[in-house]
Amino acid sequence: MANSRFEYVKQFERENFLLPQTHIVIRVDGKGFHKFSSHYEFEKPNDIRALNVMNRAALAIVKQFPDIQMAYGDSDEYLFLLRRTCDLFERREMKLVSTFALFMLVYYVMEWNLEFADKPIVMERLPTFDARAVVYPNAQTVRDYFSWRQVDCHINNLYNTSFWSLIEKCGMTGQEAENFLLGTVSSDKNEILFSKCGINYNNEPEIFKKGTVIVREYQELQPTTDLSERQKQRVSKARKKAQVKTLHVDIIKDTFWEERPWLLE
Ligand code: ATP
Ligand code: ATP
Ligand code: MG
Ligand code: MG
Repeated sequence: MANSRFEYVKQFERENFLLPQTHIVIRVDGKGFHKFSSHYEFEKPNDIRALNVMNRAALAIVKQFPDIQMAYGDSDEYLFLLRRTCDLFERREMKLVSTFALFMLVYYVMEWNLEFADKPIVMERLPTFDARAVVYPNAQTVRDYFSWRQVDCHINNLYNTSFWSLIEKCGMTGQEAENFLLGTVSSDKNEILFSKCGINYNNEPEIFKKGTVIVREYQELQPTTDLSERQKQRVSKARKKAQVKTLHVDIIKDTFWEERPWLLE
């Protein structure tokens, strides 16, 4: 870079290097997707094609960055868990969040064009995303963060399924359905769905009830500390070659994490 008397302006830049040795989770969320979904006429409560677009875009991101251990998504949001020791962009927060938000947008549009060739994206309604990075100090808080999002997915889906079933199967208006569900707990909604709409919530598709998990699967635990250069190269190769799977499973219970000890190292 050429030296000039203007270069001092560089000193005004501030950078947040995310705390080393912590678990970074990057969360992206679609901006104004309530309006986006009505503009492109998503099926309510769950448009499966739109979910496919989100899931494939997130899968492309996971494949692009071997430092991502797993991702979890529902509706217009996705969480990406990075390796505790990862050094992607030197852990610079602004680089990380801007890159993830942009990759989400670009892959979303590419996948959209394949899935919704009949509904091209228009300039006035673009699928933009914001992103934030949160660092978690230990395995428990990471798990609680993912659990929180899966519980949210479940609660929203149960409500939305009940709401739209009352409208479509019982001929209620939106206002009537809302009043009808006021003050009900989960078991009430299960009962309403069953007795009034003939729907057994347990039989609803797993992708709607549980959201989507994308996970890097290894055959064996990858060592992470005190590695020689050769070992580092071998681990990095294994990471790039690891199979990436898309699942719709419970991530609140212990089983998922116990079967994959590498996720939380
Ligand atoms: P913000 O910009 O604050 O995030 P938002 O309108 O995107 O606002 P969210 O809380 O993120 O609000 O909610 C996303 C909304 O997008 C959902 O409430 C739902 O209406 C809609 N949506 C997203 N994905 C789907 C889908 N696959 N099927 C049907 N609706 C969807
Ligand atoms: P801003 O976007 O201006 O920072 P905010 O953080 O309060 O404001 P958003 O995160 O954009 O709002 O809100 C989108 C929706 O997601 C809200 O309904 C909010 O309750 C929910 N939400 C907020 N924080 C999180 C989070 N860390 N993970 C998942 N959902 C969240
Ligand atoms: Mg949103
Ligand atoms: Mg959202």
